Amino acid sequence: MKSELSKSETEKYIKEIFSKKSSEKEIRYAKKLAMSKNIKLGNLRKKFCKKCYLPFNSDNSKIRLKKGFKIVECKCGHKSRYKLK
Ligand SMILES: [Zn+2]
Repeated sequence: MKSELSKSETEKYIKEIFSKKSSEKEIRYAKKLAMSKNIKLGNLRKKFCKKCYLPFNSDNSKIRLKKGFKIVECKCGHKSRYKLK
């Protein structure tokens, strides 16, 4: 990987990381990249735990719906809340 990627290249790279089965390490790296390039993760933020960076799947997280919010509880205990549209 080149050391200096353009913003659009970085965005593409980040999307690639999220489109495959990534490890916590890769997610952490993708987030760092996004921050350094000022890229908004948008919906991608809902795909991992903000605390331990574990990518959510049906085995490691519980999803509950409550009063217009979707609450995802990670196996580390961290709860992420997202407003339902
Ligand atoms: Zn977690």
